[in-house]
Amino acid sequence: MKAGVAKRKITPDRTVEMSGYGFREQPMQGVHDDIWVRCVSLEQDGRQVAICSIEILSLEDDQVQRIRESVASAGYRPEDMILSCTHTHGGPAVQYLRLCGTPSPEYQDFLIESISQCILEAGQSRQECLLSVGAASSGLGVNRRKPSPRGLLHELNPDGHTEPELVAAQLKRPDGEVMATIFNYGCHGVCMGADNRLITGDWPGRAARSLEAEFNAPALFLQGCSGDVNPFTRDTYETVDVVAAKATDAVHAALAKARPVEGAFENWRETVALPVEMPPSEAELQALLARIQSRPKSEWQWMDKLDAAWSNAVLENSRDARRREIEMEIGGVRLMSPQQSVFEIVWIGAEAFSTYASHIKENSRPAPVMVTAYTNGNIGYLPDARAFPEGGYEVEEAYKLYGYQMITAKSEDIVLKALGISA
Ligand SMILES: [Zn+2]
Repeated sequence: MKAGVAKRKITPDRTVEMSGYGFREQPMQGVHDDIWVRCVSLEQDGRQVAICSIEILSLEDDQVQRIRESVASAGYRPEDMILSCTHTHGGPAVQYLRLCGTPSPEYQDFLIESISQCILEAGQSRQECLLSVGAASSGLGVNRRKPSPRGLLHELNPDGHTEPELVAAQLKRPDGEVMATIFNYGCHGVCMGADNRLITGDWPGRAARSLEAEFNAPALFLQGCSGDVNPFTRDTYETVDVVAAKATDAVHAALAKARPVEGAFENWRETVALPVEMPPSEAELQALLARIQSRPKSEWQWMDKLDAAWSNAVLENSRDARRREIEMEIGGVRLMSPQQSVFEIVWIGAEAFSTYASHIKENSRPAPVMVTAYTNGNIGYLPDARAFPEGGYEVEEAYKLYGYQMITAKSEDIVLKALGISA
């Protein structure tokens, strides 16, 4: 196998609005730590793969499309590319999310150009390499959906599900020198909250920089299925360091157990159509708006602002808002030797809940698997079926940031089937 690596700084060089929180004052006030796009380009028997880790919240479908088009001339097909966002909540606004910071068109163009150039550059410097993969467990992520008599709370719930496995891979030259480290774990990039107005890669960025200093080679974080998972501690830059240290500890443990993997790439990609709920009727929306607008704007809570913006958008774009399904991409980059998978990176274009990672891993055992979400686009939350009757932020509110309607509880069945898993 041959590998090339590249990285580019994507820190905004002028003031832009940030993404990740609706109730954040805008715009950014400075830079705490630089953010990067990092790419590993692999080639085996004429088949190639570009694995990108991008330190932003998420990318939109048409942005993914533009990157795909700009590297197509280098032979990359859409299924050969993993454009994975770390989901830092301290990055510039890129994907449009209602009330969550207005993306700057100049920054969007700069980012798309940077990612495309990084992929091309990585592909031009390929040399012989050996790939090894290992796994270890970490408790840095905790489920953040807590059932209570008052309903489902957005709070840490140590009894809730997480996928504790961290998978780490390393590419080395035949002489043993490290070319790149890739690590995958599912936990929101939210050590820093809405009051942080400095650009930061949050804990994934901090962990990547530590590993880069240690191995003197780019370190790529592939964010996992973290739709329902937050760090065990948060709110200050000290917690960023603490959580990142826990991540790098697990990377060390995983690398200590790493085994060489070899094979031929078999890449796949599929679009799944997920059914969505019908929005409320026009009369119901008008009534909701009237109720909110009967109070002075200064008294509006965050949810009133979101409901007002969302209701207006649904009324104004009634055709889009009444679409019956949303399309989401999933795919995988599989290393086959010769008939069976020895390593795979599965990707999902959504904020998938952690049970998805567990199902995928169970299904592929004993081969190690990385499962990365927020990849090649992001339709919003992809809860598991169990979460729908429970409700909560991810089920009842977040879709109003993303678009018009929530996907239905049937989604889990459809996605698992498309992944070849029977639930
Ligand atoms: Zn999120």
